[in-house]
Amino acid sequence: MAETALAGDGARASDAPPPGSPRSWPAVPRRALTLSGAEARLPDTIAEFQQTLRRFALEVLRPTGIRLDRMTPEQVIAADSPYWDVRRQYLDLGINLETLAGMEPAERALMFSIVFEELGYGDAGLAISMGAALLPQYISAKFGNQALLQRFPDTLIGCWGITEPDHGSDTLDPSASAARPGGQYGRPNCVATFGADKIVLNGQKSAWVSNGTIAKVCILYCAADTGAGPDPHRGCVLVLPLDLDGISRGKPLDKLGQRALNQGEIYFDNVEVPLQYVLAGPEDYARAVYCIHSEANSLMGSVFTGLAHAAYDLALDYAHERRQGGAPIIRHQSVQTRLFHMYRKVEMARALTRRVLAFNGTEPMPALQAGMAAKISCTQIAFEVTSDALQIFGGNGLTREYPLEKMLRDARASMIEDGCNEILAIKGGTYLMDHERLHTDGD
Ligand SMILES: Cc1cc2nc3c(=O)[nH]c(=O)nc-3n(C[C@H](O)[C@H](O)[C@H](O)COP(=O)(O)OP(=O)(O)OC[C@H]3O[C@@H](n4cnc5c(N)ncnc54)[C@H](O)[C@@H]3O)c2cc1C
Repeated sequence: MAETALAGDGARASDAPPPGSPRSWPAVPRRALTLSGAEARLPDTIAEFQQTLRRFALEVLRPTGIRLDRMTPEQVIAADSPYWDVRRQYLDLGINLETLAGMEPAERALMFSIVFEELGYGDAGLAISMGAALLPQYISAKFGNQALLQRFPDTLIGCWGITEPDHGSDTLDPSASAARPGGQYGRPNCVATFGADKIVLNGQKSAWVSNGTIAKVCILYCAADTGAGPDPHRGCVLVLPLDLDGISRGKPLDKLGQRALNQGEIYFDNVEVPLQYVLAGPEDYARAVYCIHSEANSLMGSVFTGLAHAAYDLALDYAHERRQGGAPIIRHQSVQTRLFHMYRKVEMARALTRRVLAFNGTEPMPALQAGMAAKISCTQIAFEVTSDALQIFGGNGLTREYPLEKMLRDARASMIEDGCNEILAIKGGTYLMDHERLHTDGD
């Protein structure tokens, strides 16, 4: 019989065990995990960068996120705020379009997954701020729009203007597939009126725009009026500078979680926008929304996997230190079981997100339903795991002396952010339908 490569297969007791053979393990086997759990060996460059990112998460993002959480929204963005130092240090890490463009698609997808997970491990609000900051330029690159890329360097802070005061969930649903049957969208708040050589923008985006009051460039969704009145289902996507005449900002938003993340309104009053800032006109609107949401939903999966992992790690440490009833609480079976369920959920979140990013990042066309599955699963898991971690901290978890109550608030926001999870599931369900089959059956 031919020798097989399986470790230990066919070996006699006297043979030296081949590498990986159970005979080379300790008598009581126990295997430590890696920085990201049961992760197969990463390429060396990515593994090294992950270590750098983990240090950045623990030494810079986590402590600064806690400081920013306790500040007013105005203090968070004041000239002397530690936010700006984080932003500088983040840019020094070299996470930019040039580096990403130099990678093979599969490597880039893995790198993205790890970068955003590690940022989320440090602080979810800051991770979202850094991600939103790159979105206009990243999507311009996806569309191959060199003029926009040259106009807006990726060091400029960007934002994503979607939600409007009268339109939250429904702005994420341009095909109206999640809408109540017979429901009417009503009047859009932000309208781009197309002329021969320019667009005139009027209206506003809601206070939820991440980086809304500090961004220099925006990737903006708006209803398009090409002569027959504004049509919310045939909108357009612009990438525009936020210093054009007629643009003003609201007050930074005060909210429950992700308080390090600046948010606020953007107002447009007869803003004249040259046509060169159109990334996707009405004919490309559905494609652009599909592309942007596929990217954004998947990255939300990474950030909130990172947050869940951080909460799990903190709870695991605490369970070894805190003694009750004469023993470290990890000796109590209920605590071990809770920790185990937290661990397995973090592994599931990571496995799903890595898989979705790998698929969406290497296929010619991404699957939005896969991005939605990652976003919903990982934000739900982040909420459950941060809540369980707080339970392990007992009363201490409720105090501001420990970071758990903040992490729980950060996770709670994620179930609304980037589309409420309920809406994403309704829309996701429509992507599972095979319309051709339904038509053939006469449905
Ligand atoms: C931390 C954070 C960051 C964000 N960042 C940005 C950003 O960068 N840019 C931006 O533009 N926006 C951003 N948002 C806004 C976010 O996308 C919206 O809050 C979200 O889409 C929900 O809209 P809404 O808050 O208006 O809720 P609504 O749409 O008013 O929904 C309220 C409730 O009604 C339910 N509901 C609504 N419609 C339906 C339906 N058809 N079927 C069933 N239930 C329904 C929802 O599930 C929800 O429970 C952010 C939000 C958060 C929390």
